[in-house]
Amino acid sequence: MTLQLFNTLSGTTEAVLPADGAALRMYACGPTVYDYGHIGNFRTFLHVDILRRTLLLAGVRVNHVMNITDVDDKIIRNAAEAKLSLDEYTAKYTQSFLEDLDALGIQRPEHMPRATEHINEMVKLIETLANRGLAYKTEDGSWYFSIAKFPTYGQLSKKDFEGIEDGARVDVDEYEKDTVRDFALWKAPKPGEHHWDTALGPGRPGWHIECSAMAMQILGPSFDLHAGGEDLMFPHHENEIAQSECATGVQFARHWMHVRFLLVEGKKMSKSEGNFYTLRDLLLKGYKVSAIRYLLVSVPYHHQMNFTFDGLTDATVAVEKLRTFHTRLTTVARTGADSTKWSERVAQADAEFTTALEDDLNTARALAPIFELLRFCNGHLDKTGNTASAGDIAATLALLEKFDSIFAILEDRDAETTRTALAWAEAEGRAGEASADLVSSMAFTDAAIDALVAERTEAKKTRNFARADAIRKELAEKNILIEDSKDGVRWKRR
Ligand code: AMP
Ligand code: ZN
Repeated sequence: MTLQLFNTLSGTTEAVLPADGAALRMYACGPTVYDYGHIGNFRTFLHVDILRRTLLLAGVRVNHVMNITDVDDKIIRNAAEAKLSLDEYTAKYTQSFLEDLDALGIQRPEHMPRATEHINEMVKLIETLANRGLAYKTEDGSWYFSIAKFPTYGQLSKKDFEGIEDGARVDVDEYEKDTVRDFALWKAPKPGEHHWDTALGPGRPGWHIECSAMAMQILGPSFDLHAGGEDLMFPHHENEIAQSECATGVQFARHWMHVRFLLVEGKKMSKSEGNFYTLRDLLLKGYKVSAIRYLLVSVPYHHQMNFTFDGLTDATVAVEKLRTFHTRLTTVARTGADSTKWSERVAQADAEFTTALEDDLNTARALAPIFELLRFCNGHLDKTGNTASAGDIAATLALLEKFDSIFAILEDRDAETTRTALAWAEAEGRAGEASADLVSSMAFTDAAIDALVAERTEAKKTRNFARADAIRKELAEKNILIEDSKDGVRWKRR
C-alpha cells in the first residue's frame, strides 16, 4: 500500500514516501491558543490524523511536528485585557486543546513545540535573511521580508503577483487574503507590549517565521510534507516557503496538503452568524464525541464540508450500527466451516477500503465497503441463527480493527468524554448551557446503571415484575434505554 496524495505545490497526485527511506518528516500547522478550538479547526486536525494513521497503516514511520502558536496579536491583546502573562493566558487554551485532541482520538504528533520556546531559532533565521540582503529593518525597529527578492514567490498559491508594489508592507497577523506585501519577520513592541530583547532589537516574532524556524529545527531544512487548512496556503505557507528557501537555498517542503474548509449549514462559521461551534459546545448539546469525529472525517479532506445537525444525527446512527455489528461479531457462536461467499466479501471489502484510502485519502469511499460488508454479514447471521465459522469471524474482526486504526470510533469513550465536558462547564460557570436530556442521562454513572440493570434481571427471574418495570421506567426517565435481546440485556444512553 502506497498513499497517493494531491500535492498543492505540483498540482498533481504523488506518492508519499520518506525521502530518507526512514521516517516521513511532516509538519502540520497547529492551533493559535487564544480560545477553544472550533469544529473547523478540528476538521483540519482530524484529517491530518487520518493522513498520519494511513501512513502508519501503510507501514511508513512518521516524524510528525505540530506547533502551538502561543504568541500573536490576538493573544497579546487578550492576555493584556485579562491582566495575565502570555504564559498564564495560553496555558489554559493549550491544555484544553490537548484535551480536545485526546477526546477526538487524534494521535499526538511526535513533537509539539511552542513558539515562545523557540525565539532564538527565529532570531537566527531572521539574521541569516538579513545577512543575505532579504530582510530589512524599518524605522520603528521591525524587520520585514522583501518578497520582490524571491522570484518564485506565489508558487504554491499560483496567484498572479504581477505589479506587486515593491516595499509595501503588512504587519498584522490577521491578513487580508489578497494583499501581497512584504511581511513582518519581527515586530517591534508597542509601548508596554510583551516583547523579547534580542540581537534584532526588542520585539516578537511574526507568525510565519515561527513555523519555518520550528519545522527546520526539528525536521531539517528540507522535509517531506507540510499540511494545514486551505486558508493558510496564502499568505502563511507562501511566506514560510519564501523565508525558508531564501535562508537555506534548498527546497523547504516537497509535498503540500491543504484541507478544505468546513461550513456550517452552508455558511461560513462565525460568531456573528450564531453558527460557531467549539467541540465543547457540541458535547454540551448532547452530541457524542464519536459521532463528531466520524462526521468530520467522513467527508474527504479535498472537499469542502457542510456541517449540519442532521448530518451529526446520521453520524450517531452510523457509529452505533458499526459498534453493534462489532459486538455481534464478538458474541456469535463460532462453528462450522468457512463460507466461501463470506470470505470473498471480507477480502473484497478489505481491498476496496485500502484502495480508497490510498487514493488521496478518500474516506467517504473507504466507508462504503465496510457498510456493505456489515449488511451482508448481518443478513447471513440472521439466517444462520447467529453462527459463522471461527475463521470468517476472525477475518471480519481483523478488517474492523484495520478500519478502526483509521476511523477510531469503535471504542466507546463517549460517556466519559461527555462527563468531563460537563465537569468543565460546571467549573467555567457554563453548566446552564448543557442540554436537560444530557444532564439527566449523565446523572447515573455506568456502574450505577449496570447495577440497576442487574437488579432488574434478578427481579424478572424472581417474577417481581413491578420492580423490573419500575427500574426500566426510572432509567428511561434519565434517557437510558434498555434493550432485551437473545444475547442478554444491553443499555445505552439516548
Ligand atoms: P488557527 O488556530 O486559527 O491558526 O487554525 C488552526 C487550523 O485550523 C489551521 O490549519 C486552519 O487552516 C484551520 N481552520 C480554521 N478554520 C477552519 C475551517 N472553517 N475549516 C477547516 N479548517 C479550518
Ligand atoms: Zn504554520
